[in-house]
Amino acid sequence: MNDSNKRDENPKPEIPPEQLSYNSRFKFNCHKGIKCFTDCCRGIDIMLTPYDILNLRKRLELTSEEFLAIYTDPQLLEKADLPVVTLKLLDDERKSCPFVKDDEGCIIYKDRPTTCRYYPLGVGSLSYSGEQGEKDEFFFTVKESHCFGFEEDKEWTVAEWRQDQGVDLRDEINEGWMDLIVRKKSLPSSMKLTDESKKMFFLICYNIDKFRKFVFESSFLDRYAIDQKTIDKIKDDVELLKFGFGWLKATFFQAGQDGYQVKKES
Ligand code: SF4
Ligand code: SF4
Repeated sequence: MNDSNKRDENPKPEIPPEQLSYNSRFKFNCHKGIKCFTDCCRGIDIMLTPYDILNLRKRLELTSEEFLAIYTDPQLLEKADLPVVTLKLLDDERKSCPFVKDDEGCIIYKDRPTTCRYYPLGVGSLSYSGEQGEKDEFFFTVKESHCFGFEEDKEWTVAEWRQDQGVDLRDEINEGWMDLIVRKKSLPSSMKLTDESKKMFFLICYNIDKFRKFVFESSFLDRYAIDQKTIDKIKDDVELLKFGFGWLKATFFQAGQDGYQVKKES
């Protein structure tokens, strides 16, 4: 992977953004009649979350492996030194998203990625509180010259926007994944994960169908003392994903190890 494939994890906006809280208000509206309709769906950099992939592969009736091969580009989060994936854009003049149609807009709207739902909000964090699990996050508006949505009269609080766009649900499901990235980023750069560990991170976070096979069709359940209630629960994709995040956290950071112990030799 060359340098151009690495994402800038902390892109710096040109003007320092005003920090917004959940109760802050902003004016914005996006609709079919607006003159910039679909302009924001070209030339973009959309990092996909694990839950995005889970939904999109279902929507497109693909396995997670097929989805990854057709619709994603592998990237490296430089500071965290962890693999992630971005949506592969079309090779057309405007580098369009594969899911945008000029007059219809987003053809997978119900399952659109988390990044598309956040827009025009960005999220930042003031500090990392680790085990306390407290979030010290703030929001800001991303005002791009091509977007006329800010000239509309509709007003939202940040909380209303997040709820309306389905961001709260996605953040809750992806929380374990974000936690892994933040934890890894906060370690000294000399503390590296092995290639094998990074492959496991990729498998669990982005290739849910293969991870399911790994859990249920390998010796995994013979090696780990996973209780029956959990085994039943993780038949569900979202629960399996959350289980995987917990397993990575226990394995990489020796944190939250309850429920992920290796079976004792009898
Ligand atoms: S997924 Fe949908 S909303 Fe997101 S960039 Fe593509 S077309 Fe636009
Ligand atoms: S550029 Fe802004 S207003 Fe226009 S379609 Fe995209 S989000 Fe909506």
